Parts: sequence; structure tokens; C-alpha cells
Amino acid sequence: MRIGVLAVQGAFAEHMATLDAIGVEGAEVRLPTDLEGLSGLILPGGESTAQRRLIHRWGLRQPILDLAASGAPIFGTCAGMILLSTAIVDGDEPVLPLLDVDVRRNAFGRQLDSFEADIAVPMLGDRPVHAVFIRAPVVESTGPNVDVLARLDDGRVVAVRERNVIATAFHPELAGETRFHRLVATMAAEHDDPGEGSGRRHHPTRRTGQAR
Ligand code: GLN
Repeated sequence: MRIGVLAVQGAFAEHMATLDAIGVEGAEVRLPTDLEGLSGLILPGGESTAQRRLIHRWGLRQPILDLAASGAPIFGTCAGMILLSTAIVDGDEPVLPLLDVDVRRNAFGRQLDSFEADIAVPMLGDRPVHAVFIRAPVVESTGPNVDVLARLDDGRVVAVRERNVIATAFHPELAGETRFHRLVATMAAEHDDPGEGSGRRHHPTRRTGQAR
């Protein structure tokens, strides 16, 4: 099983290192052929404007949408969350509209340009996630099939899931947090072999019948 990390721009090396840390083979994705045979894909943080251009330039958009449609898990962090949203408030056209949310870029303004916070993510267990926010987006509204995974103390939504697509406004990979990547690996393994695994009820990819 291999999980791809979009490597056209941004913080892809940290995701590769996190996959390595949990014993999962990662694959840097720059061209459509790099997506062949992958069991999941991570979209890293960085600059979504640059990433959108490169996704279009290298013809990556449709093959990524195809991978998602197969039921493989897609995980976006920060800029990756922006790319996955169906609407970017006051902004550009959607790129990979797989997540039915309205997202606002750079939502924390200059004073809170970057900050860290311990936030509860009940799906990952009792221990809070140490979340690193860097010019982060925020989710302003969610569609009916979107689960909110985490909020800041003020209620703003910073992590979401819709079936096989997960996104965080923050960077778990910069704080040694591995549980999101473990979840993605579990979902990827189930996508590859739908008969295996005990956590089927917890993984909506199973319910949609999209998994192979
Ligand atoms: N501010 C960036 C954007 O709008 C995202 C920042 C990040 O990924 N850390 O694309």
C-alpha cells in the first residue's frame, strides 16, 4: 500500500516523514502517472494559489478526482483544505470540490498569523491534538454530509470530514501528531481490501458503496 503526497509545492516533506514514522510507504506526486496504484492522497499546506496553478498545469485535477471517486481517502491540510472545498469565500474558483464546505483563506488575520492550540478531536481519542496554524483557513459553513471533527474554543470549525475526504485547517504533521495519518492509512487499507478490518462502521466510505 502506498499513500501519495502532492509534491508540487509546500510542506510535502513533513507528510512524507510522518508516513515514514508510522511505517507507511509514501509517494511524492508531481505528475498524473505518480497517482497510479495509490491507495490514498495527502494534499499538504503551502500556497493554494500556487498549488492550484500547478495542479492544472500538470493535468492532475481529473486523476485526483478519479482517485477520490474510487473511495480512496484524501486528506488535505491547510492549503490542501482550501483546494478540496466546494466554495472559497471571496476567492477563487474551486479546484477539487470534494468537500461540501465554504472556506475562508487567511481567516485569522495578521495578529494571529500563526499560532498553536491544543484542540479536542473526539474521533481520534481523548488526547487533544496539538495543532499548528499558519495563515490558516477556517470553515465557515458545512453541507449536510459533512462531519465537524474539531472546533476552536470560539466555535470556529477547523477540521471536517465528508465520507473519504478529511481536511484540517491546521498542520498536524508539524507537531509530531500521527493520528490523522494513521486514520488515513486505515481508510486506505480498507479501500484496498474492503473485506478486511474491524472498523467498518466508523468509515463512511464503506456505507457509500464507493469502495472497491
Ligand atoms: N494561506 C495559505 C493559502 O491561502 C495556506 C497556508 C498554509 O497552507 N499553511 O493558500
